[in-house]
Amino acid sequence: MDGSEFDGDLIKRGEGGYERARREAVWNGRMPERMPDVIVRAATEDDVARAVRLAAREGLRVGVRSGGHSWAGNHVRDGGMLLDVSRLRAAEVDAESRAARVQPGLPGNELIARLAEEDLFFPAGHCPGVALGGYLLQGGFGWNGRVHGPACMSVEAVDLVTADGELLRADARQDADLLWAARGSGPGFFAAVTGFHVRLQPRPRVVANALFTYPVECLEPVFTWAQEVATEVRRTTEMMLFIHRGEDGEPEIVVTGPTLVDDPDEARDALAVLATCPVRSRARIEVPYIEATMADLYAGAHASYPDGSRYGVDNMWTHAPAAELMPLFDRIVETIPEAPSHMLWMNWGPGSEPAPARPDMAFSVEDDTYIALYGVWTDPADDAANVAWATDLMRAGEEHASGIQLADENLAERPARFIDEERMARLDALRDEWDPEGRFHPWMGRL
Ligand SMILES: Cc1cc2nc3c(=O)[nH]c(=O)nc-3n(C[C@H](O)[C@H](O)[C@H](O)COP(=O)(O)OP(=O)(O)OC[C@H]3O[C@@H](n4cnc5c(N)ncnc54)[C@H](O)[C@@H]3O)c2cc1C
Repeated sequence: MDGSEFDGDLIKRGEGGYERARREAVWNGRMPERMPDVIVRAATEDDVARAVRLAAREGLRVGVRSGGHSWAGNHVRDGGMLLDVSRLRAAEVDAESRAARVQPGLPGNELIARLAEEDLFFPAGHCPGVALGGYLLQGGFGWNGRVHGPACMSVEAVDLVTADGELLRADARQDADLLWAARGSGPGFFAAVTGFHVRLQPRPRVVANALFTYPVECLEPVFTWAQEVATEVRRTTEMMLFIHRGEDGEPEIVVTGPTLVDDPDEARDALAVLATCPVRSRARIEVPYIEATMADLYAGAHASYPDGSRYGVDNMWTHAPAAELMPLFDRIVETIPEAPSHMLWMNWGPGSEPAPARPDMAFSVEDDTYIALYGVWTDPADDAANVAWATDLMRAGEEHASGIQLADENLAERPARFIDEERMARLDALRDEWDPEGRFHPWMGRL
């Protein structure tokens, strides 16, 4: 086994450059101590097919990496092949038909910037660096995602390499089962994607936001209010609440609502609801309306997820009333680690207009509200405590949860429900059919 057949390269465990290539495959500074036997860094789509065929010949299981933003470093497993497709990052845009073919290593923020040149848009993820490969497979909760649905709904076809090394295109007419599975199976998909054919949207002309911060004594009225007004919030506003430690080191609540529309008046109207909190007089910072750019939104999100830090995350979907969640929120406030660790509360389901209809696809678990914990730290000595912080609190909240997002999965630490039972059974049958020898790793845990 050597790299001569690849346009990219192949590095075996023990060879020079192995550890660097392994580490570069995971964005989280908390690198898993798992060691693949071999790393293939594909330079072309043909390389991906060659790598899967090599893995089949050598009896290696395969973990595929696109942008490396899986918090768990899901694709880095013990033994087998780590197939890194991060160099595949081209986008071919057909502005006229509002369609594009994108490669999996392309970061979503780069796609957004590229599309803006043609007045087009795609609901890519909220942070720079999150690549389309992992993002689209797991569902994809991006900018204006409440308007367009999880981003996998915008995937019309996938080009992929099957477990036996065949390159094929799956769409609604041909190998439709594979398209069905690619929309939502996330880190359990049983093929290597080399390209996504996606539908594009017109670029929203106005990017606006609002920001209010409240002392933690207002926890109950702020979250109760947020849930009450959720059904009035327009789909173009992503109402998000955060709990984090403010500049004085004390926990505080932040209320924001990135809004992407075509007209400033529409944005002002949409954001007015965020100023209706009954304890508004207690707000420490009040910015009812501000216009921004997509670059500003990305910079704001990036500040909460700095590069090089260590992360431990976990999450839940819920429709539990705020009153029932309050004991959990109290515990989160009491125990939250140093900034920029935070809790995110996102209004996903309810809105003043109906959500877009979901097609039949593997993606099937979502709910009114999304709650996620992000522990962020730098000292490896804090790993165990901070991983336990996110995991144990979400375990404590399980009675209120209907499932989890694969975006922020923590399945190795806490298996949870992420696809409904009927679709999970279909997915298992499809895996048996398309990957009978288990060439591709499944999820690191499941119920
Ligand atoms: C800072 C940060 C911000 C985030 N923000 C958001 C957000 O706003 N919205 C959201 O929905 N999610 C968000 N996420 C979660 C993110 O979307 C997922 O972790 C996603 O899997 C990342 O995609 P990736 O290609 O960068 O990751 P990778 O780690 O490369 O991929 C994740 C997994 O997907 C599978 N996979 C990846 N590429 C392929 C492929 N080509 N073929 C087959 N399988 C593949 C592998 O199992 C891999 O382990 C965020 C994550 C981080 C770290």
